[in-house]
Amino acid sequence: MTRVLVPDHIDAAAVPALGARVHGLRGETMGTTWWVLWADRDATRQAAVRAAIEAELDLVVAQMSTWLPSSDLSRFNRAAPGSRHTLPEAFADVLQAALWLAEASAGAFNPAAGALVNRWGFGPAPRHTDPGFTPPDETELCAALRTQDWRRLAFDAATREATQPGGLLLDLSAIAKGHAVDRVARALAGLGIAHALVEVGGELRGQGLRPDGMPWWVELECPPVAPGHSPPPPTRVALHGLSVATSGDYRRAYRHQGRHLPHSIDPRSGRPVAHGLASVSVLHTEALWADAWSTALTVAGRDAGLALAEAHGIAALFVQREADGGLTETLTGAMARLAG
Ligand code: ADP
Ligand code: MG
Repeated sequence: MTRVLVPDHIDAAAVPALGARVHGLRGETMGTTWWVLWADRDATRQAAVRAAIEAELDLVVAQMSTWLPSSDLSRFNRAAPGSRHTLPEAFADVLQAALWLAEASAGAFNPAAGALVNRWGFGPAPRHTDPGFTPPDETELCAALRTQDWRRLAFDAATREATQPGGLLLDLSAIAKGHAVDRVARALAGLGIAHALVEVGGELRGQGLRPDGMPWWVELECPPVAPGHSPPPPTRVALHGLSVATSGDYRRAYRHQGRHLPHSIDPRSGRPVAHGLASVSVLHTEALWADAWSTALTVAGRDAGLALAEAHGIAALFVQREADGGLTETLTGAMARLAG
């Protein structure tokens, strides 16, 4: 049986214009890929749509990339101890959301964990794939842990000012892709495109309907199952004014001395998460929040993550890898309501 998740309200009156067809574009950004589908009668505006999409993606990279040395974020990370900086608008908005979630999740989500992310080989350098790379020892872990107190940023949302306390490395990679998806969806709306499906690096947002009057359906990615176990039933989501993000422990990870090390780091222990959560999917109207919450809940682990998601009314699906290799699914109340 397929599980089907649909939003409370489908606005069937707002169907695409008669004669509209689905158009598509794809490209690369943020070390990953993007694609967009939209319903349109006008088949001549591919170039204008691509330009609008790329302008939004380029803005996010220029402000928030950890990989681009010239980004505003990279320059903040290199800035002198004690210096105060006025951040550009999008960067400040994303940082404000990230700091809110850092407080709400008691540090499970931490935008100031860049030094830890780097030292585990998931930042710009060194990469865990580099020859001679070794994970951090205790001394290095302690040093990285000391740099990640987000409160020392003394961020003021009104003036968009933040302090570089010295050695604090911001990393917005768990939230910026979601924000990019939201920006692209809004840019499309600005072009009069109300019916679209936007994807950046696995984060998705759907608006309106397809030309056939159906919502944009997507299937949630299922984590790999151990031999001898059957996968959980597929879950299909109607992305009608909804976004979805899935964090998994199996996609970006490496093995070291028999340990599985995924790219979600628990900033409280300083180590990659290891509590057997195979994936967490979050549905939210905003892709920014779906993206950030999926990482926060992954780091929190199933039990603490469930409690946190319930406390905030978050629609989440947890897939836990049990000791025998089987997968067990748990839905929050908000997610169960979408499942009818
Ligand atoms: P996923 O799809 O698995 O959620 P994301 O790309 O959204 O992956 O987020 C993972 C990235 O977030 C990591 O590569 C790292 O840069 C950063 N990150 C890792 N741990 C945390 C954390 N606890 N809080 C915030 N960001 C983190
Ligand atoms: Mg994320």
